[in-house]
Amino acid sequence: MVTGADGRLHWTPLRAVGRSRGELWELTPENAIPLPAGSTLLSLPGRQPLGLDRRGRVAVAEGTAVSAILPTGFLRTLLPAYEQGRRAAALPLYGYTAVAASEPPGPGQEPQLWAAAMPVEEPGLWDPKHFNGPDLPRVVSQRLEESPGNRLVKHLSRCALEYGCFTAQNLFYRRWEAGIPISAACNARCRGCLSAQPDGVFPAAQDRLAFRPTLDEVVEVGLAHLQAAPKAMVSFGQGCEGEPSMQAELAEAAIRQWRRATRRGLINMNTNGSRPEAIRRLAAAGLGSVRVSLFSARPAVFSAYYRPHGYTLDSVLQSLRAAKSEGARTSLNLLVYPGLTDTPEELAALQDFLEAAPVDLIQLRPLNMDPALLEEILLGGGSTGEAPGSAADRGQERPGFGAPMGLPEWWRRLRQAFPQVGWGSFTPPE
Ligand code: SF4
Repeated sequence: MVTGADGRLHWTPLRAVGRSRGELWELTPENAIPLPAGSTLLSLPGRQPLGLDRRGRVAVAEGTAVSAILPTGFLRTLLPAYEQGRRAAALPLYGYTAVAASEPPGPGQEPQLWAAAMPVEEPGLWDPKHFNGPDLPRVVSQRLEESPGNRLVKHLSRCALEYGCFTAQNLFYRRWEAGIPISAACNARCRGCLSAQPDGVFPAAQDRLAFRPTLDEVVEVGLAHLQAAPKAMVSFGQGCEGEPSMQAELAEAAIRQWRRATRRGLINMNTNGSRPEAIRRLAAAGLGSVRVSLFSARPAVFSAYYRPHGYTLDSVLQSLRAAKSEGARTSLNLLVYPGLTDTPEELAALQDFLEAAPVDLIQLRPLNMDPALLEEILLGGGSTGEAPGSAADRGQERPGFGAPMGLPEWWRRLRQAFPQVGWGSFTPPE
């Protein structure tokens, strides 16, 4: 399937393939699922799709490659396979997924679309059909009128209306999980950060919070939600901010005020796990859930992706232990990438990490980034966290990645090794 010069989707006779590192896998009903409702199709400019011709030889199709972006609840298993033009611009931050089309059943009839993916959890409250409704502008302006001076509500109104952020929209719909960003600062420089791209290779997906909210602003936003929303949950650590535990004092004060006023709802923090002592204090104050982001449990790969400042992979482990020791629920936001995550080295390191870390739930999420850029960093130049090709980069050891086993097999082995751990795609409200 390609995007033609007319911008429309066109079926091509080449058999569709997906990619995992240097390997191409033909997409079949055995390794692909019908494209989930709520998926988005994206054209990949400057990239021509690869496929298999009648003799099974790899061929390049005329037209522009197409990728799927899956809704929460599904995990991609293969990347789109394409030939990238030398002048192709870097792709924005999405979880690019291999997609295919069956031959149209008849003239003028739509083909069935397929995606290289596996279901992880029913989308439920995160089903895209619940969001971006025609009433959104009205509920946003209504809430803005109720809190005229609250800069946080103003900031979140942009997230809801302009970025289409689900946790921001939940604040205005007064339901489920609402996001409460509090930190402009961060002690990491993640390659795939949504709100800050200091290298300038491609633009950040959204503007980062540019102010420090006051305690009153935070308390007002959260209390109204905890007291009244169905399945109420408030979450620090949103895509539009830095690391929330960098504002631990503000968060702790807000949590204490909320808990003095109500025991209702769940208070959660999405964090990079860099500050275990802050997490311990917050959990003791009433933080009921801690979700830690992790791409790799190998120190060299961890550093190359997160570029941490003043903390290490061990800090992440200690943060999970600190949260658990104070009674908070713990989950891992595992960033998954076909061809890297499902390698023997990564699996072994993750198993060692999970042996040591008290995790109740593992959330499987795609690592959202231009595949060529990420692989250049981790497999080619720049896998040491230094600028690609610099002297500091060339002088250091690169982490090796063995042959990928395929994500379905990787997941089977993990579930077998950790039967006590829950699996999902998002933090449950209760
Ligand atoms: S920890 Fe979060 S805010 Fe900080 S660089 Fe990484 S993704 Fe961005």
